[in-house]
Amino acid sequence: MRITNLKPLISEEAIQTRVKEMAGEISTLYKDEPLVVVCVLKGAFMFFSDLVRHLTCKPELDFVRLASYGSAAQRSKTITFTKDVEIPLEGKHVLIVEDIVDTGESIEHMIKELEARNPASVEVCTLFFKPGSYRKTLPIKYRAMEIGNEFIVGYGLDYDQLGRSLKDIYVVTE
Ligand code: 5GP
Ligand code: MG
Repeated sequence: MRITNLKPLISEEAIQTRVKEMAGEISTLYKDEPLVVVCVLKGAFMFFSDLVRHLTCKPELDFVRLASYGSAAQRSKTITFTKDVEIPLEGKHVLIVEDIVDTGESIEHMIKELEARNPASVEVCTLFFKPGSYRKTLPIKYRAMEIGNEFIVGYGLDYDQLGRSLKDIYVVTE
C-alpha cells in the first residue's frame, strides 16, 4: 500500500524551531529536579529524540506503547498499555511526550495510569494539539503546534504505518 495524496503542511525547519523553544522552556522549569521523560511509541519517537537532545536538564528516559483497536482515522475508544515504563516513577516528575492530542482519550488514559505510580507530578508535552476535537478538561501544558481537524502524517506520525519516516508534516487528502 502507498499513501498517494499528501499536501505539505509544516516544514522540517518550522518543527525544529519549535522543538528547540519547547526544550528551553522545559529545561528551565525542571532544572535539577528528578525527571523521567516518557515517549509514547510509536508516533512520538522522532519528536522525543529531537526534544530530549536539546534538554539541558538531565532526565531519565523511558517508553510506553498504547494500543487502540481499529486503524488510522477509524480509531476506536478501547485503549490498552502494551508496553509499560521500566523506570520507577515514585517521587519523580514525569513528562509524557506525545505526537498528537486529538479527542484526548489516549492521553487521559495515560495520565491516569502514570499518576497511580505516585510521581511528584505528571505533565504532557505534545507536538500537535487539535483544539477543535479535544473533549477532555485535563490541561495539556506544553503544545508545540495547534492544527485543525485534518489527518496528518510525517515526522513519526503514520497513516496505517506509512509515512512515519517523512521529515516534514503532510495532510492526507482523500
Ligand atoms: P485521541 O485519543 O486524543 O483521540 O487520539 C490520539 C492518538 O490518535 C494520537 O496519539 C495519534 O496516534 C492518533 N491521531 C490523532 N490524530 C491524528 C492525525 O492527524 N494523524 C495521525 N497520524 N495520528 C493521529
Ligand atoms: Mg500517539
